[in-house]
Parts: sequence; C-alpha cells; structure tokens
Amino acid sequence: MPITGKCYCGEVEWTIIGKVDFTSNCHCKDCQTVSGSAYGTTSLMMYDPHGVEFKGSPKVIHGFSDAGNTTQRGFCGNCGTVLFNHVSEGKEDEHWAIRTGCMVGKPPKIDKEIYMKSKPVWVPSPKTALKFDGMPH
Ligand SMILES: [Zn+2]
Ligand SMILES: [Zn+2]
Repeated sequence: MPITGKCYCGEVEWTIIGKVDFTSNCHCKDCQTVSGSAYGTTSLMMYDPHGVEFKGSPKVIHGFSDAGNTTQRGFCGNCGTVLFNHVSEGKEDEHWAIRTGCMVGKPPKIDKEIYMKSKPVWVPSPKTALKFDGMPH
C-alpha cells in the first residue's frame, strides 16, 4: 500500500512511491518556524529523488538549510498546510522530507530525533528514537 497524504483543504495530495528511510522529529529552527510549533515530524527519503508524486500544485518557497544546502519548502497555496522539504535538488545528497502530520492513516514510529541542540526542554523525547545534535550522516 503506498503512503498517501493531503493538505487540510484537499487541493494538494501526495503519494510516496519510493522508500522511506526513516521518520524523525526535527527540532531545527526552520522546522519550528514553518510549523508554528515545537518541531517538525517528517518521513525522509534519502536516496529516492523521484519517490514522491503530487496531485495539485504545491506552492514552493526556496531557501537554504543551516548546512548551506538548497531547500524547497512546499505548502498548499490555498490552506497553507506545510507539505514537504525538498533538499539539494539535483545534487548527490538530494532528499525529500515529507511532513508526517498530513499522512492519511496510522502515523509511523519515530526512528530519530534530529537537531537536539535546539529542542525545547519541555518537549518529551520518544525513548526508542536515536538522537542527533544536528542532521545525521
Ligand atoms: Zn490545502
Ligand atoms: Zn528541521
């Protein structure tokens, strides 16, 4: 069964046709800002740049990660739901981080916690998740 998700208003839908490598809670400042919350939960596809398909057209904001990589943050232009982060397009380390909160069905378990260095102390940690100060390599 492919993993699917959609934005709040239903204008944009995505389907993961590739392989998810891990799901993480990311405590970086950018994820805090775009989510308007404490952290961003994403399912990362590290080695499959063509592993996600969209129905509808997400709006894309271009930027840079704190490691200096290009990022394309996608969201629904109608309802504002944050949908993905597409990192280093066309480069060797290209990957997708799909926002787990818009997934349809049961959410996956959290494999990793990343950017622990900016995690607020009041956010509890999933016990089984591997922890990283920044982005795992
Ligand atoms: Zn929408
Ligand atoms: Zn982040």
